[in-house]
Parts: sequence; structure tokens; C-alpha cells
Amino acid sequence: MHQMTLAEIARGLADKKFSAEELTRTLLARIAQLDPQVNSFISLTEELALQQAKAADVRRANGENGALLGAPIGHKDLFCTQGVRTSCGSKMLDNFKAPYDATVVAKLAAAGAVTLGKTNMDEFAMGSANESSYYGKVKNPWNLEHVPGGSSGGSAAAVAARLLPAATATDTGGSIRQPAAFTNLTGLKPTYGRVSRWGMIAYASSLDQGGPLARTAEDCALLLQGMAGFDPQDSTSIDEPVPDYSASLNDSLQGLRIGVPKEYFSAGLDPRIAERVHDSVKALEKLGAVIKEISLPNNQHAIPAYYVIAPAEASSNLSRFDGVRFGYRCENPADLTDLYKRSRGEGFGAEVQRRIMVGTYALSAGYYDAYYLKAQKIRRLIKNDFMNAFKEVDVILGPTTPNPAWKIGAKNNDPVAEYLEDFYTITANLAGLPGLSMPAGFVDGLPVGVQLLAPYFQEGRLLNVAHQYQLNTDWHTRTPQGF
Ligand code: GLN
Repeated sequence: MHQMTLAEIARGLADKKFSAEELTRTLLARIAQLDPQVNSFISLTEELALQQAKAADVRRANGENGALLGAPIGHKDLFCTQGVRTSCGSKMLDNFKAPYDATVVAKLAAAGAVTLGKTNMDEFAMGSANESSYYGKVKNPWNLEHVPGGSSGGSAAAVAARLLPAATATDTGGSIRQPAAFTNLTGLKPTYGRVSRWGMIAYASSLDQGGPLARTAEDCALLLQGMAGFDPQDSTSIDEPVPDYSASLNDSLQGLRIGVPKEYFSAGLDPRIAERVHDSVKALEKLGAVIKEISLPNNQHAIPAYYVIAPAEASSNLSRFDGVRFGYRCENPADLTDLYKRSRGEGFGAEVQRRIMVGTYALSAGYYDAYYLKAQKIRRLIKNDFMNAFKEVDVILGPTTPNPAWKIGAKNNDPVAEYLEDFYTITANLAGLPGLSMPAGFVDGLPVGVQLLAPYFQEGRLLNVAHQYQLNTDWHTRTPQGF
């Protein structure tokens, strides 16, 4: 049962091959047995899951037939879930039970999805390796000595280990696509504003976007359908109709123009990953796509710009965790200043503190123009590059990551080395564009992802290309040994 995709589960439930309750119990037992190896969950919500599963079975018995009705999922632990600990992977929120549901959580619950638990993540979604969680590192099911990617490493590891068919995640600079690449999954970061951020604990508000992580593009389409849509509670939510993502999966790729940026194949890219990328290009050419070399001349400035903008926004967002209103409070504060200092010093981990300091510095008087304003100008240049490229091509293709998943601990003493791993993913966030990573082969037994980018609101096109690729390849069907 645990090998089924969301689409297969929907069919099985509709055909009454099993009930949502049976499926939920099977997966909960599997999580209890196998999750100690990967550490993909922070909290399990067994009671809620069984209650939702039973309710889904009743709704199906009454004739309802939605694709997500009875589908087991997990939520990254930064989506507020009413009455459930929502920790953001931090000691700061270890004692925080959300008083309300995030829009994404509420929408998926209304569609009948069953929440099995809250998945592990880098603290406050900062990281590319899922090593900074207060609840311990997450391990990559493909090789337990390697990282699963981050910051949505728990969602990725849970789906890769077949503990869940799909999970929600968020992507500020690659946190859906990079873990998808490292664990052989399909992950989609939607257009900024497509999925509501209400109740999604903020890291960098102008970059954060929620999206689906699953094994196939078909499943990402189903999950995105349940997540996307206008939300008046989120001032950056966009009031655009949500297309039927499953309906365009089988569109022909004949004549589709795919751009491959020449800047993507620089010295930093593992040549074995470059080979996998070229293979995927050939496979798509066979399906009728036309390949064109393009240029994204400002791509090289993306990492420095991102690592000013994201910490700047984080320093502002995280000022609300002050030890007064909610979250961690230090013991016996001497006075108010001591309360602030020690609550934040004890509640936040090293990487979060580093970013708060960098962000505060970049925003301070005298440095604002040199760093933050400059970074915003680079951001516009990066967006312009994409706008120019999309005059000539429909989709942009490249590697998702420069390297396969590294060994746990390998980059612990060098945060900048980890930042550099985000080279291919952060430009989509800076520009607000949708991006998808799909499985495209292996290097030394570790998965490799290929990234597709499209113009605003063209999620359907990304899912279409990935689905057609997956109908003609079998990388995404491979299962890690032991799971
Ligand atoms: N690795 C990037 C960072 O640490 C992206 C994280 C994310 O997308 N949440 O900021």
C-alpha cells in the first residue's frame, strides 16, 4: 500500500479496494517502524489522522469522490495547524500550539486530505541540508550518511522513504526543489502569490512560497490543486483563476521551445550531473521539444543578492519572537532587556542568529544603500533576464543542484559553501517564477534532479513537461533500498 502514488490511492479509494482508515493505519505503523532511521517527522498527529480518515470514508460512502478525499499527507512544520505544535524546527516554538489553521492546511483538510504529522525542517526554513533543526538532522533515505537537502528535508525524506505519498513544503530559495532533487522526488515551487502564505510562518516574505512534494508530476498536480487559489487573508495572494492542473498533463510537447542557459554549465557543476541534464534534454527532444541555448547574464549575482535580501527580511520577520507573546521565554529574566536577549539567544540556533545579524546589518542606516538596495537592483536585473529569455522559449531547463547530496556534516564549518549550493534555485524566488525539479538519474547511487522554469502562472506547463518526461523514463519510480 505504501508504494502507491496519490493518483493510485484516489483510484483505490474510489474502487473501494481499501478505506482511508486502513491506509492511514498502515502508514502510521510504517512511520513508527521506519522513521527512527530518517527522522522525518517532528510531530505525529495520529488522532487527527484517524478522525479525518474516518470522515473521508463517510464522505466517500455518501457519494463524494474528490482526488484528495482520504489522501494521507504531511505538512512541513511551519504551516500552522490548529491545536498542534507548529515548531518551525526551532526551540523557540517548541511549546507553540497554533491557535488556527494556515489556509493551505484548511484547504487541504476541506478537500479531505488526512494529516499524518508535521515534518522536520531546517530551523525557520534556513538551510539546504536539514541539519539545523532543533529536533535533529534528517537523513537521506537513499544513503543515511547523506543529507536529504533542505529546508523541507523532512517532507522529502518522508515521501522518499514511502512513509507518505506526498507532503506540503515551502521554497524561499530552493527548499522544495533541492530536497526533491536529493531524494528522487518531484517538487514544485509555484509562482509567488499562487499559494496563500497565511499561517505559513514567514522566513523571507517576498520569496516564500508553499508547494507540493511528491513522487510524480501527476501527484504534484493533485496536491497543488488543493493548495492554490486566492486568499484575501494574504495581501500578496493573487486573484487569478486556478486552472485544472491535471487536465493539461497530457498536452503534446511537439514544438515546445526549451531554453538551456549557457551560464548553467560553469566550473561549479559536477560534470556527472551535467551529463544527466543533457540526457534529459535528449529525452525531451525525442518528444518533440526544440532546444535553444539562451543566456541569463546576471545569474552569477543571484547568491550574493539573495543572501542579503533573505536575511534582511528574516531579521524583520523574526523580531516577533521576543519571549513576551509566544514561544520560548528564558528563566528568571533580570529585566526586559535581559528577557529579550536571553530568550532570543537561547531560543534561536546558530544559523538563525547568524542571519538575523547579517540582515540587521544590511538594513541598518549607512549600509542600506550599499547592500539591501543594491541587492534589490540585482533582483530586478535577474527578473529582466528571465523576461527576455521567455520571449524566445517556453520553458528553461537546467540542473537543480550543482552537486548530489553531500555527507552529513561536510559543510558544517562553512556556511557559505552551503549557500553556494543554491546557485540554480534562488533565481526563481528572486523573480517570483514557478520552478519544478524532477528525477533525472543517479550519481554514485544518489539522485539527480533537473529543474524546469516557466513564465508566471505556467505551473500547468511545468507539470505537463515533467509528466510527459515521466511517462518516458523510470527514474522517478526507483525506491531507496530498505524502504
Ligand atoms: N537554502 C536557502 C536558504 O537557506 C533556501 C531555503 C529555503 O528555500 N527555505 O535560505
